Amino acid sequence: MLPVVALVGRPNVGKSTLFNRLTNTRDALVADFPGLTRDRKYGQAKFERRQFIVVDTGGITGDEEGIDAEMAQQSLLAIEEADVVMFLVDARAGLLPADQGIADHLRRINKKVFIVANKVDGIDGDSESAEFYKLGLGEVKQIAAAHGRGVSQLLQDGLAPLEADFPDMEIVDDIEPEGEEDAEAQRQRLQDLPIKLAIVGKPNVGKSTLTNRILGEERVVVFDQPGTTRDSIYIPMERDEREYVLIDTAGVRKRKKINEAVEKFSIVKTLQAIEEANVVLLVIDAREGITDQDLSLLGFVLNSGRSLVLAVNKWDGLSSDVKDDIKREMDRRLGFVDFARIHFISALHGSGVGNLFGSVQEAYSSATKRINTSILTKIMEMAQDDHQPPLVRGRRVKMKYAHAGGYNPPVIVIHGNQVDDLPNSYKRFLMNYFRKALEIMGTPIKIEFREGA
Ligand code: GDP
Ligand code: GDP
Repeated sequence: MLPVVALVGRPNVGKSTLFNRLTNTRDALVADFPGLTRDRKYGQAKFERRQFIVVDTGGITGDEEGIDAEMAQQSLLAIEEADVVMFLVDARAGLLPADQGIADHLRRINKKVFIVANKVDGIDGDSESAEFYKLGLGEVKQIAAAHGRGVSQLLQDGLAPLEADFPDMEIVDDIEPEGEEDAEAQRQRLQDLPIKLAIVGKPNVGKSTLTNRILGEERVVVFDQPGTTRDSIYIPMERDEREYVLIDTAGVRKRKKINEAVEKFSIVKTLQAIEEANVVLLVIDAREGITDQDLSLLGFVLNSGRSLVLAVNKWDGLSSDVKDDIKREMDRRLGFVDFARIHFISALHGSGVGNLFGSVQEAYSSATKRINTSILTKIMEMAQDDHQPPLVRGRRVKMKYAHAGGYNPPVIVIHGNQVDDLPNSYKRFLMNYFRKALEIMGTPIKIEFREGA
């Protein structure tokens, strides 16, 4: 599990600026689900040695009517989902009544809150942010989100208290060359464990229908698993003599004891499920085609390095023309996940559902398949013979040897001269070459390059 950090505050204090910095600017994978999250934006944040989920909100004006009221409501929901709240204020504008209103709310709830005085660039930060101590929420952190100043320290202080509860937050170092034995031990351990399979997709694509179909019952069984609404339910199951744990994000099996209004679809829940899964089964609605939301979710899956199987659902009752159109659209827009098998299914009628597990198994075996140094080096040499690496600054890039650096997803480490300078097109060529030669399907492959022998 990853911790969730919510950014709240009045409009224009710099929440989006901070969000973009944490999620890496323009390419931020923002899941923006109209009608559901409105003003909440979610991103996978990676900052220095840490990763977490960050939620940006539209802002609270203190003048909550109409649109503003809705915006405030979204902020409250984001606060509810968060482990840490970053309450942004504008050091240049000073303390405003709306800030007071937000502080009143934050003081009443039992959450770790940090006051963050933004825009301290070019002003006397200490004196301009002093008045925010009046909010009664403790220390005021100073940052300039637009320039990155203070952000590292803010995260250091903000995330440190969560370390014990969220060990996954720390980004662990890549396995070094001498780590091949560790990699093998990791692989064997993974092969014996149940496959954690997350069924994800935007609302109404048919996740519940599919989950019920897979579990072979239409009945909703009450489960007694602890947790909050943002946690998924874990359902152990067996299929073809293989053990699985189904991560149910659709809330098919409901918990006892929870009587609060459950938000059926939750992005935080979906992101956590992807993070925890070995294989993600992403469901797409054939009747809607590929939407931006689907692409957002795929982006999250890809970023996490998870294995992937695609299920295009509601394939029943479509004319062959429509089917052809959808297939063409998929070819056009899903090229970036061409390692994943695609199934056309009807969760409602059951057609195609049985075959999904073959691809899930294949993806997991691929992700944990033994690859040894001599074979990897051989394949690398073949690739190099077939297609010479380019010249960089007048010298030919030379790859020397390769070895496995981890599994799930498979990591291939290539050593050589100037390998850091290989252009992306050559890296893609290598990736495809390894994929074909190793017969790896359903999982991304990571290639890392190390300078020197
Ligand atoms: P949001 O409405 O809270 O999401 O605020 P934005 O991130 O959209 O920022 C509002 C304005 O403040 C924009 O014009 C930003 O360029 C500006 N801004 C954000 N961070 C900083 C900063 O660190 N220093 C200065 N001087 N301006 C900033
Ligand atoms: P979820 O929100 O992703 O869990 O989606 P549901 O499983 O609740 O399904 C949403 C709607 O799509 C329901 O009305 C289902 O009956 C319908 N549905 C689900 N799967 C199929 C399918 O394979 N074919 C058709 N025609 N409808 C489906």
